[in-house]
Amino acid sequence: MAEAGSTAERVKQQADIVRVVGEYVRLKKTGKDFSGLCPFHQEKTPSFTVSPIKQIFYCFGCGKGGDIFNFVMEMERCDFPDALRLVAEKCGISIPKPKPSSPAERTQSSVRATLVEMHREAQTFFVNQLQGTAEGKLARAYLEDRGMDKATIDRFGIGYAPSGGDLLLRHLKGKYAEKLLGESGLVSREQNGSRLFDRFRRRITFPIANEGGKIVAFGCRALGDDQPKYLNSPETPIYSKSNLLYHLDRAKEALRRSDFAVLVEGYMDAIAVARAGVSNVVASCGTSLAEPQIKLLGRFTKRVIVNYDPDTAGQAATERSIAILLEQDFEVRVLALPGKADPDKFIREQGADAYIKLIKESPPYVDYLIARARHMDMTTAEGKLRAVNFLLPYVQKIPNRILRSEWATRIAQQLRLDEPVLRAALSKAAAERRSEVKTQPELVGRAAKPVERQLIRMLSEGEGFRRELSEQLQQGQLYHGLETEKIFAALIVASLSGQALQTTEIAAALEDRDRRLFYEILLEETSEPTWDEAQSCVDALRHRQAERQLADVQRSIEASPAGPELRDLLQRKQDLMRRLAAAR
Ligand SMILES: [Zn+2]
Repeated sequence: MAEAGSTAERVKQQADIVRVVGEYVRLKKTGKDFSGLCPFHQEKTPSFTVSPIKQIFYCFGCGKGGDIFNFVMEMERCDFPDALRLVAEKCGISIPKPKPSSPAERTQSSVRATLVEMHREAQTFFVNQLQGTAEGKLARAYLEDRGMDKATIDRFGIGYAPSGGDLLLRHLKGKYAEKLLGESGLVSREQNGSRLFDRFRRRITFPIANEGGKIVAFGCRALGDDQPKYLNSPETPIYSKSNLLYHLDRAKEALRRSDFAVLVEGYMDAIAVARAGVSNVVASCGTSLAEPQIKLLGRFTKRVIVNYDPDTAGQAATERSIAILLEQDFEVRVLALPGKADPDKFIREQGADAYIKLIKESPPYVDYLIARARHMDMTTAEGKLRAVNFLLPYVQKIPNRILRSEWATRIAQQLRLDEPVLRAALSKAAAERRSEVKTQPELVGRAAKPVERQLIRMLSEGEGFRRELSEQLQQGQLYHGLETEKIFAALIVASLSGQALQTTEIAAALEDRDRRLFYEILLEETSEPTWDEAQSCVDALRHRQAERQLADVQRSIEASPAGPELRDLLQRKQDLMRRLAAAR
């Protein structure tokens, strides 16, 4: 992001991170750094740290960290260019206007702007149709039947697309070129391509807004028995189904406050849940949740209660969603409403309080899955195997080993399985994806040895000798096999590239555990690094490498190999022991 010499880099250097962060968090000076209560998680004692010298922030509690732009992006929920502008503004740094875009980009963005405008007009049109026409009256009666009063209709911008077939088209035609009308998804073209007509006819319309609150599509429900029951806008230059969550634009604040989301299938459900007072609800608008949607949601919260329809399709969608949410490190609970009801139906019949109570009690996803597994035939060995195989992939995805083990016990008890056998199957499954298994940072604690920590710090801060140090470490492969290997690798690659080192960018590319460790190392209080100190650290790593090799050789010797091989090994052992003795 902040490339050397770029505007961003200049703003970053000039901006006062303490002052900017201080606008959001009450900071107190502690030594060289500042600390305060973390704005990203609930805490009573401050673990949030800002370092004006290193120009970074980091929370020892939740692990969030980065530079001034990351902070502003996170707090304001904005993208990088906006964060850059905001920081520059706050600190009185002048920046050039965004450089003019290419003609093609300009055309694209003007197409998008026009499509958004067209949707705004369509929205007004649909609302007027619902409120002011005879046909609209019928639609209102239908909505009332479903318990939607005037306030709800207004709040969610519900409208009506008349049956005429070209009323909206005629309304828009004078103002917009036919080509653009075709691209909007609001009108369709006849099979033979000759004539345009309204895509939505005799349907209740629900405006679908993007994250910024702009209407970019419509979801429409048939008023009568017309098929399909639900018809939505197609993908257009302004609308991509997998990149949007319905109601997110209105849920942001509530998501942040409650730090969890209720995920439902359709807009009718989302409206019902929001009306019940649970405003932190979003809908995936379709039965399958896509990865971009999860990433989008992840910017607001990492905790989700999945409340899909309990029918077969809904169950399958729930299970798919669980898997993909777990992969993105979400904490997942599942609410399966009793009586096979969808949220809309349940709330209409049982009331908001009953729903909220169930939300609060919704079980972790593993309980939900166990309940599902219990419906399989558990009287035969094959049936049990099927149940275990159904559960295994999910249990594997639990990042925390202790938690995984607890679930194994629970599954064994609930399904009356032999626990050791189940555990063996689990650990085998877990081993097969060992590289992905993550451990909670608090369990690992201060993992890296002091020498590794010192070297990492020197690579990050030793402007004068970073390159030589990187070469030494690289040539001797001295960091291979260390707990901190990935951090070293990233720092060495960056140092050898010859470009200015951006610690926050290196951090951003690391996995969670490494990233936290890296920030913690960066924030340790130390003196200026020196070349001598660096050399003694490198020597220490060489020593450790020789020790590791010696241990390997010893193991090979103990496996009693054939004569010639044994001779080589003994020779190698001698060399290594001499090297180690000389180093003492
Ligand atoms: Zn925190």
